[in-house]
Amino acid sequence: MKITVLGKSPAWQDADGACSGYLVEEEGSCLLLDCGNGVFSKLRRFRDYTEVDAVVISHLHADHFLDLVPFAYALTYAPRQQPVPVDRWPGTDTPARPTLYAPAGAAATFRRVVGAWGNEDLIENAFDLVEYAPDAVLDVGTLQVRFHEVPHFTTTYAVGISSTNGGGRFTYGADSAPNEELVRFADGADLLMIEATLPRPEREGPRGHLTPAEAGEHGSRAKVARLVLTHISDELDELWARTEAEEAFGGPVTVAHEGAVYTV
Ligand SMILES: [Zn+2]
Ligand SMILES: [Zn+2]
Repeated sequence: MKITVLGKSPAWQDADGACSGYLVEEEGSCLLLDCGNGVFSKLRRFRDYTEVDAVVISHLHADHFLDLVPFAYALTYAPRQQPVPVDRWPGTDTPARPTLYAPAGAAATFRRVVGAWGNEDLIENAFDLVEYAPDAVLDVGTLQVRFHEVPHFTTTYAVGISSTNGGGRFTYGADSAPNEELVRFADGADLLMIEATLPRPEREGPRGHLTPAEAGEHGSRAKVARLVLTHISDELDELWARTEAEEAFGGPVTVAHEGAVYTV
C-alpha cells in the first residue's frame, strides 16, 4: 500500500499548500482519503482524477471536504467526461463517477454548501454518495476500510485501511482531542498518521485537537511501528514539533510534507 500526502495543512493552507488529503494506492486500487481545500489541484499532480475509485471523508469540516466542489465540477463538466467528442477528447459512454463515502448527514451538508449558489445536487450527481455507518467495512479493490469514532467538534471518524493482499495496516487519526479510542483502534498499526495541530493545549472550551507531544504519546501507547505527524501548519516550528513528538513516542517521528510517500 502506498500513501502519498497531497495536503497536510490544518484549517488554513500552508503557503502553496493544501489541507487534508491522502492518496492511498495498491495494485490498481485508488482511494482518496479526505479532500480538503487545495487537494484537488494536488491530486492532479499525482493521479488522473478519473481513476480515483473512491473518496472517503473522515468528518464534515471544510478542511476535510471542501475540494469535493471542484472535483465535482471536473466530473460534471470536463470535456473528457462528455458523451460526445470535445476538443481532443473522443467522448465516453462511461464517465467516471467515484464512490464518495462520507459520514451520516453528509448529503444534507453538501446540499447546503453548493446550494448557496443554486447548485444543490452538484456533489451527489457527480459522485455515487454513500453515507457510511460507523461499523461499515468497505472494500475498495484490495483495500479494506474501517472506521472508529474519535472526539472532535463534530462527528469524526479515524480511518483504518488494511490490505487484503499481504500489505500492511495504516491508521489515520483524522482530527481529535486526546483519547483512548484512537489508541485502541491504531493498536499495532504499521503506520499511524496523527494530527499535531496545537502549539499548546486549548486554553478554554472542550478539547478538539492534539499537541505534537500528545500525538507522540498516542503513538507510543498504540505501539505503532511508524508515526507521522500531520494537520500541522507551516507557521509552527517543524523541528520543535518533531522533537516533542519523538520524546513522547520514544523513537523517530516524521512530519508529513506534500508529496511524501509512505509504503506499508
Ligand atoms: Zn481539520
Ligand atoms: Zn476538524
